Amino acid sequence: MAVSSSSKNNLPDWAYIRTDFPILHQKINGKKLVYFDNAATSQKPLSVINAVSDYYERYNSNIHRGAHYLAQLATEAYERSRQTVAQHLNANSEAEINFVRGTTEAINLVASTYGRQNIKSGDEIIVTEMEHHSNIVPWQLLCAEKGATLKVIPVNDKGELLVEEYLKLLNNKTRIVSVAYVSNALGTIHPVKEIIEAAHQAGAVVFIDAAQAMPHMKVDVQELDCDFLGFSGHKVYATTGIGVLYGKRELLEKMPPYMGGGEMIKSVSFKGTTYNEIPYKFEAGTPNIEGGIALGVALNYIQLIGLDQIAAYEHELLLYGTETLSSIEGLRIIGTAENKSSVISFLINNIHPYDLGVLLNEQGVAIRTGHHCCQPLMDRFGIEGTCRASFAFYNTREEIDQLAESLNRAVHLLS
Ligand code: PLP
Repeated sequence: MAVSSSSKNNLPDWAYIRTDFPILHQKINGKKLVYFDNAATSQKPLSVINAVSDYYERYNSNIHRGAHYLAQLATEAYERSRQTVAQHLNANSEAEINFVRGTTEAINLVASTYGRQNIKSGDEIIVTEMEHHSNIVPWQLLCAEKGATLKVIPVNDKGELLVEEYLKLLNNKTRIVSVAYVSNALGTIHPVKEIIEAAHQAGAVVFIDAAQAMPHMKVDVQELDCDFLGFSGHKVYATTGIGVLYGKRELLEKMPPYMGGGEMIKSVSFKGTTYNEIPYKFEAGTPNIEGGIALGVALNYIQLIGLDQIAAYEHELLLYGTETLSSIEGLRIIGTAENKSSVISFLINNIHPYDLGVLLNEQGVAIRTGHHCCQPLMDRFGIEGTCRASFAFYNTREEIDQLAESLNRAVHLLS
């Protein structure tokens, strides 16, 4: 793995680290691939790819109940990953780490269990105008079922949350506040610590959607004091179909199970069933074993590079990208918050984002276009969608130059 031998004066050698990602070294439409769709999903380092093939080549087996050697190896690797996640998040214990399919499932799990158990008619749940649909719809379903109300924190023209409006929304009917740490559409980093503190003072619990935070910064659940937090493995350099729901032990223990099946039980009889301890209570059925293992490897990998170094380098890319793209005639950046992660959403004149996306693809440049699963936010800005370039630590300034050059070419063709 390149990362371990890359350090010069404690600064990572980003070009060397890039060699860990085989997918990046290819041509698309005859041009060098520039992958700027990292907010949708990240590329995978060799250590993660090798961990998955190693699992299938050497110790593929179902976990937890097997007496045989392969089952023991698989169980140990899977549970070691849970410890890695717990350490990475600074959770109190690995019992607070529930493996799920991703952020979407983490939110649905909490809405369907904690939500159903604790929300009643007249209660209020707060989200922001900037949420991904997966942090809106599960709460809408819960509100519809229980006769509760969904309240929305508005944003300003820069794409920042209006915290003073949030404080006005809080009251003794507020039960749950669910907010993204970082906006996937605009890159805004929300003041989640302040949001959590205020919610707790009002007696509400807080879910943090950390899908876009985990790849870019240190996330410490004890420091934040969030009650629940969810993220997806595939955005943090691991594979798809695996993610984590963190929850405080005392909350998880009181919650009913989410799904019934194998593994989540202590004993089953037709007179009645008793449930397993956390986290297994929430892990019915055979899980995504190789995904769980890959997640631990991916978190170790970014720890080895250093999350502070990653954040600092990606911030440089953000500044360089913002300056470079701003020099393109007619380009308008949507989302200019003071505190941003490495995402640039933009529009150029009246050109449809999709048309730009298609022409960029012809130049080998991969960006995302559309509403980014944030239709209410797009409505707030009176637009249908944006072009979004999102950077990871394996991206370079030269690639940003290539994006700018390709954009200029595309605008020339479309005008
Ligand atoms: N929340 C945010 C902020 C996201 O960016 C995403 C995915 O883009 C999700 C939730 C949903 O993640 P997943 O589809 O991996 O469950």
